[in-house]
Amino acid sequence: MKNPFHVMIIPTLGCPSRCHYCWSSDETSPVMKIETVRDVVAWLNDFRDDRVTFTFHGGEPLLAGADFYRQALPLLSEGLSHLNPEFAMQTNLWLMTPEIAEILAAYHVPIGSSIDGPEEINDSQRGRGYYEKTMKGYEIARAHGLLVRFICTFTNQSVRLREEIFDHFLQHGFTLKLHPALPSLKSDDPGQWALDPEEYGELLVYLLDRAIEKRDEIEVMNINDLCRCVFTRRGSVCTYVDCMGNTFAVGPDGSIYPCYRFVGMPEYILGHVSDHPTMDDLNGSPAGKRMFEYRDYVDTACGGCSHIQYCRGGCPYNALAATPGEISGVDPHCVAYKRIFTEINDRLNREMYESPMIGAGSGSRSARRKEKPGVTALMRSIVSRSL
Ligand code: SF4
Ligand code: SF4
Repeated sequence: MKNPFHVMIIPTLGCPSRCHYCWSSDETSPVMKIETVRDVVAWLNDFRDDRVTFTFHGGEPLLAGADFYRQALPLLSEGLSHLNPEFAMQTNLWLMTPEIAEILAAYHVPIGSSIDGPEEINDSQRGRGYYEKTMKGYEIARAHGLLVRFICTFTNQSVRLREEIFDHFLQHGFTLKLHPALPSLKSDDPGQWALDPEEYGELLVYLLDRAIEKRDEIEVMNINDLCRCVFTRRGSVCTYVDCMGNTFAVGPDGSIYPCYRFVGMPEYILGHVSDHPTMDDLNGSPAGKRMFEYRDYVDTACGGCSHIQYCRGGCPYNALAATPGEISGVDPHCVAYKRIFTEINDRLNREMYESPMIGAGSGSRSARRKEKPGVTALMRSIVSRSL
């Protein structure tokens, strides 16, 4: 089982919240029927032999209700036991109940949720009362032993409050994962909240410094991932690998897409679960060919970049959504990726070059103790945490 793959299940695109910067919910979306989950099991039964992770995503996946998960989790878990399925969920937690939490706990489903910093910052860019609703769900989830991590969306407005936001996560003992607000394709003013790529790059450098400074107190997931990329020279999360062919999303009606971000875009339908398509069927569909065209485009467009091995042109959705109907650019966050990858590489080289251990024998321990902690120190704590 060498190549684990990822299937996102989108029970609905509906969502009870209306975050100001969100572009992905759809009030008219249907809710997935349990027959569609049976089709997923039949489809994946002899699709490939690798370990699979299912993530329930949305819209808001808890809208599907307790009955859906009471049936879906054993269907997937037992029906595909030969693939050792693991589960995860991305939810705003508003609809979490003790009943649902109990079902999810039985299948060890870790939760990814969203808060954007202290209550006033969160509510100013998502909606009044949103922080409290998420925290209520969080308490229920924690009381049932569920692991909860938060994604923090930085907008062009909240980025000015980055220190306050970081300190909020630090003080509450939350792991921090950041998400840059994207331009909304469905709004009259697509850039209203979007984080500019230059600012995103600066934010990543700021978080690198804070992650190093507070490395024993808080984990900043993105920084860990970026450092891992540079150290191993390989992408460590979907943004920095060729995700095509290893990630799929199943929409509420059973249509298969390359990723949850494409769900609801008919031109990106790869197939349908009820047809039990093979990998060749999906890759050979017009949408599949388009995804691989993007991969080939990256080889040329990023060919001269020293980070190509562990960046791979960033997220295909970001690239394709930015230029609908054509492939004419890589992920617009390229500027940010270049900024942070170069920063980590430069610091690493400096630290290695200046290290008193190099060529100085073992008598330089006291000098080493006085070194200002850097990327190497952060990497040491990342590795020791994972042991
Ligand atoms: S399209 Fe983007 S978000 Fe989706 S799997 Fe690929 S890299 Fe990840
Ligand atoms: S940093 Fe930019 S140019 Fe380099 S591989 Fe990533 S997207 Fe391509």
